Amino acid sequence: RRIPLVAGNWKMNFDHLEATYFVQQLAWKLRDARFDYKRCEVALMPSFTSLRSVQVLVESDKLRIRYGAQAVSVTSQGAFTGDVSADMIAHLGCSYVIVGHSERRKYHPEDDANIVDQVRAVLAAGMQPILCVGESYEERRKGIELDFAVGQVHDVTRDLSDEEASRLIVAYEPVWAIGTGMVATPQSAQDAAKAIRDDLTATFSTTVGDTVRILYGGSVSSKNAVELIGEPDVDGFLIGGAALKVDELTKICRLT
Ligand code: 13P
Repeated sequence: RRIPLVAGNWKMNFDHLEATYFVQQLAWKLRDARFDYKRCEVALMPSFTSLRSVQVLVESDKLRIRYGAQAVSVTSQGAFTGDVSADMIAHLGCSYVIVGHSERRKYHPEDDANIVDQVRAVLAAGMQPILCVGESYEERRKGIELDFAVGQVHDVTRDLSDEEASRLIVAYEPVWAIGTGMVATPQSAQDAAKAIRDDLTATFSTTVGDTVRILYGGSVSSKNAVELIGEPDVDGFLIGGAALKVDELTKICRLT
């Protein structure tokens, strides 16, 4: 059985003080609700500047919330001003790194070759990449959204070993649904997740296909979470806006 994952992508929001306060509040609210972390994993992706503060809080209070980074350098060290390596992130206790988010693909020179290297760097450092894929409005209009999303996963992952592929997490995030309030229907989230899973099974093995968690992202809220998580191949969420409100995020965790 795949354990669902509710992951909050904070994007460029919250400084380290706000981040610490939020994590504390979320932990308290989940404790009050007797939330079962064995049933559903909860993770937050703050800015690099907040990771150390979140680590100290999580370790000192023995919180069961996990955390990760939003991007990573493809190189391990050296003259790369402004970049952060996978080992630096791993040494802060991170479990995950988001790779290939559509905002990174748009605003930074991140192409498939670079994303392959990010995935490899994250895996080599012992963390799990959350690989983001998803069509824009244009591909959806042409009716090629499934091929497009499957192709994005396939192109980035095909040269991984079975062991590496089994540690992947995929987030299907249609670009037109991000931050727009337009959520994919449960059926279309399921169709994409299923198509991606079938391709992983064909490329690697049934074990890999059965193991990899496939999240849905794009305007997730407490109003649509239940229907989406009811789909057999949707294993959780990557959440933007709703992950900035502690009551809303608590609700989504409880509903997942
Ligand atoms: P929203 O939940 O704000 O649509 O953002 C989704 C997203 O981009 C998560 O990575």
